[in-house]
Parts: sequence; structure tokens; C-alpha cells
Amino acid sequence: MTDKELYEKLTYENKNAYLEMTEEQKKEMFAFCDEYRAFLDNGKTERECVKESLRLAKAAGFVALDELDVLKPGDKVYKLNRDKNILLAVIGTEDIKEGINIAGAHIDSPRLDLKQNPLYESNDMALLKTHYYGGIKKYQWPTIPLAIHGVIYDEKGEKQEIVIGEKDTDPVFVITDLLPHLGKDQMSKKMTDGVEAENLNILIGGMPIEAEDVKETVKFSVLKILNARYGITEKSFQSAEIEIVPAFKARNIGLDESFVGSYGHDDRVCAYTTLRGILDETAPKRTAAAILVDKEEIGSMGNTGAKSAFMTMTFAEITEKLTGECSVTDLNRVIANSACMSSDVTAAFDPNFPGVNEARNASYAGKGVAIMKYTGARGKAGTSDASAEYVYLIGKLLDDDGVIWQTGELGKVDQGGGGTIAQYVANLNMDVIDCGVPVLSMHAPYEVVAKSDVYMAYKAYKAFYKR
Ligand code: MN
Ligand code: MN
Repeated sequence: MTDKELYEKLTYENKNAYLEMTEEQKKEMFAFCDEYRAFLDNGKTERECVKESLRLAKAAGFVALDELDVLKPGDKVYKLNRDKNILLAVIGTEDIKEGINIAGAHIDSPRLDLKQNPLYESNDMALLKTHYYGGIKKYQWPTIPLAIHGVIYDEKGEKQEIVIGEKDTDPVFVITDLLPHLGKDQMSKKMTDGVEAENLNILIGGMPIEAEDVKETVKFSVLKILNARYGITEKSFQSAEIEIVPAFKARNIGLDESFVGSYGHDDRVCAYTTLRGILDETAPKRTAAAILVDKEEIGSMGNTGAKSAFMTMTFAEITEKLTGECSVTDLNRVIANSACMSSDVTAAFDPNFPGVNEARNASYAGKGVAIMKYTGARGKAGTSDASAEYVYLIGKLLDDDGVIWQTGELGKVDQGGGGTIAQYVANLNMDVIDCGVPVLSMHAPYEVVAKSDVYMAYKAYKAFYKR
């Protein structure tokens, strides 16, 4: 063995996934990403993602768990949780008490929510007050086209689903910003203060109408339009869940079309690849499950977030329908023997901002799916830190299946950090590791991912289900 050969054997270097792919795989990757872009355009809220996932699951032969009294290997089932959270499972041939392979992603993304009393008129313009959801850079939201999505109850008590701003013929909405000519004071502020949360108000109308004894006729006009179209009144907003999201569509980026640009890659890129992974499953050895959760961006709280008992309750129901009973001990065994891929994105190294990463341990767009042993901040606080045994097991599964992967760390030490659902799954007494796609401009209204990484994430979740 020459020194060069020995050096190559002893050292390790990340590979670029595009260079490792066959022409056939590249074709499959481009087709897969076209379908992914359609998923992004159809799913801009957690509810829409659940709806779209349900549609795809039904087409792949999944049936409602509630409709079956008895389960057997090969059965494909789904369970919905309040239309914002869905669990899919393919029953394995092995005893379920040997554990379940679970991939979990989140389908909520940073956005602006309407407040409960949002509509007001000022200087002959009608506007909507918002409260931002998740970690956003507030200055990124003015002067981009916005769409309105959500559910609201009308005067008759019927739930109305609203989507305005997505069709080419729809109007869109916008948050205005100051012109540079008058921006002297604003531009000298810190970026966190240049655009304040209470100024993220959505322009929704501006045409006053003739009306006797009415003071605010622009607001009146907007309410008349909303009432004619949806049967709603101003009071309807008090119970509504209306989300303001970017109105633009997912697009290919680059002359070589190597990237996808879109709102909501975090974490719909992992949700879609996880979903496609389980839809491909037929008769796995271990039962395979995929869970798409809500509320990750605000701490995984609530009955539709990863901290909800929904997942374990559904596993109890599956176990009982498979084996005829599910004692507390049975469920404990199922959970302790289960393994989880926390399918979530990480930050991709950005050549425009190299200083925030430590280059040897950053993840890179194009170098495959990223495995994160830990996330957290300030000395690994707030992470589950996967064990050596589990990291090795997952790495080997991916290697054996030809998945190109890299390790990742969310920024250099003490630069910042972040968390995922991994820690909450780990708290159940289960092995879990973060595995997902590196994202450029994460949490921006328009995020970017490399297609090779999307494809490798899909391959990774499929490899995991083979365990
Ligand atoms: Mn995420
Ligand atoms: Mn996020």
C-alpha cells in the first residue's frame, strides 16, 4: 500500500452527492423534486399539509385506523389529530413489542398569524394586525406578495376554508416599508428593531364607498366583500386561525436547476420525503410509522405538537388492534424498543456568511442528507445527544443503502443554536437522531435546498425503514 492509499484509507472526506449519483438516479431526483414542488404549493399551512398527505396516503392504499378493529402485518393505516397532525403506519411482520421504526417531521413553518381582532382602518386604508409565529427576521416580511390561508366560522356556524393569493387571478396582500429617502432613522437602528412586530400589518383594502352615517367606509367595504364571499363578519375573526404566508410558488433555482427555492422547506422538505418513504413501504419487518407534527416552531407545545400524547396513544391503539390487548407494560416495551429519525432540516453552510459555522462540522448544500448527533445551544443545552451506538447504527444503515450523508452542527459553538422534536421523542425513552436536509436562508420567506439532498433524505428514510 502506498502512503497515498494508506492516507485515503485512514482519512475521511465528505462527498458531493451529485457526483456520486448515476444518471438514472439524477433523473429520478429531478422528477421527485417536481413532485415535491407541487406538495409545497399545495401545502402552505399545517392543515393543508395534512390534507395533501392524507390524499397521497389514501391513493397509496392507507385506510383510517378508526375503521379497523383488527390489524395484521401489511396493513397500512393513518390517524388524524385535529386536522393538523397525522400519523401513518405500515404494520410489520415482527412482533410490535420489538419496536417501531418512526420518522417524524414537522409541517408548521414560520409565518404571520392574524390576531383575534385584526381589522382596522387608518388613513383610508384597511389593514390586518398580525402576531408572528416562530423565529422570523421581521425585516424580511415587508414588500413581498403575501397570501391569506386559514379557517374561519361564518355567521351560520359553518367552517369556511380560505385561500386568497395563490391563483394567478387572485389579488395578493403586502406589508409596506419605508422608502430609503425617508429611512434615515430606520436604517440606523439595529436590524432587530428596523421593522417592529406591531408594524407587520397587512394591507387588505383601500377603496372607500358611499355609505350614510358610516365613518370607516374602507373597513366597511372590506367587510362587505368578506361577507358576500364567505358569510363572515368582524366577530368571525375572534375564533379564526388565519395564517399569512408568502404568495410565491416553489421554483427551480440555478441554470442547472440544482436547487429548489420555496417558502416552508423547514420542515416540509423532511415531511414530504418522510411521507414518500412510508408510502413506498409494503411489508416491513418492523412496523414503520411516520408522524407529521404541528407547533415545532413554537416549542412543540399543544395537543398537535410533538409533546402531545397523540403518538403514544396511537401506538397503544395499534398494539391493541394487533395483539388483542395493550397493557401499560406492553406499551412501554413498544416505545423503549422503538427507534426514531427526527426528520428535520439544518443550516447549510452559506458562502456569504462563512463566519457563523465551523467549517469541518458544518453541513453543506449538495453533500447529502445531514445526520445531527445533537442540536441545542451553549454547551449542548436543550438537546437529546444521540448515543454512539445509535449514530453508528444509523450511519451503517445509510452506508449499506448507498445514501450519501454528512454530519452537521447548527453553527459554531456559542454562535446560537436550535432544537428539534428529537429531545421530546427521546424523553419517551426511545433512541432518536436528527436527520434532514441542509437549508440556505432557513426561516426566511424563501428558503433554498439542493435537490440531491432532498433525494438523499428520501433514500435515508427508506433505508431506515429497512432496519
Ligand atoms: Mn425544523
Ligand atoms: Mn424551524
